[in-house]
Amino acid sequence: MEDLCLKAFHPSARLEVVVATTTGACRDAQLAHDLAPTSAVALGRLLTGAGLLAIHSNLPGSLSIQVLSQSRIKMMYADCTHEGDLRGYVRDTSLSFPLSAAERSSGRHTVGAAIAPGKLSMVRIDPQGRYSQSATTLVTGEIDADIEHFIDRSDQVDNAMACEVRLNDDGAVTRAAGVMIRALPDGNRAHLALLRERIAEGLLLGLVRDGAEAKGILTALDREAEPVETPTRLRWKCRCSVERVRRSLSLFEIKDLMEIIEAGEPVSVRCDMCTKSYLIGVDEVRTVLERMIKAQA
Ligand SMILES: [Zn+2]
Repeated sequence: MEDLCLKAFHPSARLEVVVATTTGACRDAQLAHDLAPTSAVALGRLLTGAGLLAIHSNLPGSLSIQVLSQSRIKMMYADCTHEGDLRGYVRDTSLSFPLSAAERSSGRHTVGAAIAPGKLSMVRIDPQGRYSQSATTLVTGEIDADIEHFIDRSDQVDNAMACEVRLNDDGAVTRAAGVMIRALPDGNRAHLALLRERIAEGLLLGLVRDGAEAKGILTALDREAEPVETPTRLRWKCRCSVERVRRSLSLFEIKDLMEIIEAGEPVSVRCDMCTKSYLIGVDEVRTVLERMIKAQA
């Protein structure tokens, strides 16, 4: 079953509803980064939120969310292109908090203690490379609530956001999905509040547990919301390449490049986003170094 992002509209309440299933992307992220349970839930929620926002915005380019945490996780990042390619990472991949009785019975893991306090910032980049950025303070560290707060404060849009990542007893991701509801300026706030309440009561968690597809989640949430366009496929896919890695060598210090050349061995450069490693030959490092020295002359 592929991951999908579905955009819908509630005509009488004037609400936009976006639903994303992200099971495959969250599983792939967990495998790529070897994520322990709490780290997997945290990154899964961030990936799901990035997917919902990127596909909703409909702008060509990419959208990224970064969390700078003063707690255990330290840093998290996720981005999504308008084509639905998701990637991301967390600084501490090893977090595994014991579950409380409430978490065990609801199925919703709490990750706030690993993340808050801190800041969440969002960067939107268009194909011409122009970008806009803003940031807000984390409210709970549960990620979905923090993104909701960001949209409320930074974009000044009344909204509800929920991202759920479920794990099995071994801590592996089994299912993941998210919902974002946004009120148009003349949208019905009472109906938005009603949908938020349904989600808070566990509607989305239950649907995710039962493996509901995007359309099923939409219908269960609100029968009146109608899909407005063909769903966009979401997937875990990094945009790294050997060319990008070569270019990134120019960010190294000259003395580090000289050390690589002296050692005479190809150097392995790892992509932070997807953990793929690229082997760069000494001759290529030498070319980069010569270019850097020339540029400084
Ligand atoms: Zn990569």
